[in-house]
Amino acid sequence: MASKVLFDLNYFIAIFLVILNPTAVSSGSNKVKNNVDSNVKDPIKDYILCRFCGADLADPRKIINHLSPAAIVLTNQTLFEQKGVEVQLLKNPVGIQFYSITLLNTKCAAVNNWQYDFSWYPGFAWKPCICEQCRTHHGWYFEPKDAASLNFNFPSGQGFYVLKLNNLQSENFANSLIVTPKSYLN
Ligand SMILES: [Zn+2]
Repeated sequence: MASKVLFDLNYFIAIFLVILNPTAVSSGSNKVKNNVDSNVKDPIKDYILCRFCGADLADPRKIINHLSPAAIVLTNQTLFEQKGVEVQLLKNPVGIQFYSITLLNTKCAAVNNWQYDFSWYPGFAWKPCICEQCRTHHGWYFEPKDAASLNFNFPSGQGFYVLKLNNLQSENFANSLIVTPKSYLN
């Protein structure tokens, strides 16, 4: 009985404090949330898919902003539920332009030999990379020139990917387009 009275008293004190200062409770909970965010790895909220076949391509948490000095245009966007993604407009030697993002790791399969000319990143060699499922060319894998002579199965850790934004699809967006037949809802 005594504990119930104490509980009720605490409850009314809490309500009274909220009436006096409505931000007191919300700012307190934000502090906890921030601590949780900084200590616990964010769960995957979205995934990057191949726009043409739906194959998994990359975890959006692997997006990095590794900018090329050759970028024609840079825009800062929120993509795949990640804030602060730098989108670069790059142009290849034959004049074709690509809006692109950079990632530390992807499932885009690097193919062919290392190329050392026409690199958007000075000091880096590159290979094209393709979708493992539908073979669409999605972008390029870069490695420092010194590491590029190594077997590709053992990347240097300084490598990264440039993927063409127009070839990518948000899994969450794709799922939002799927309509469940009413007969399945019963
Ligand atoms: Zn594909």
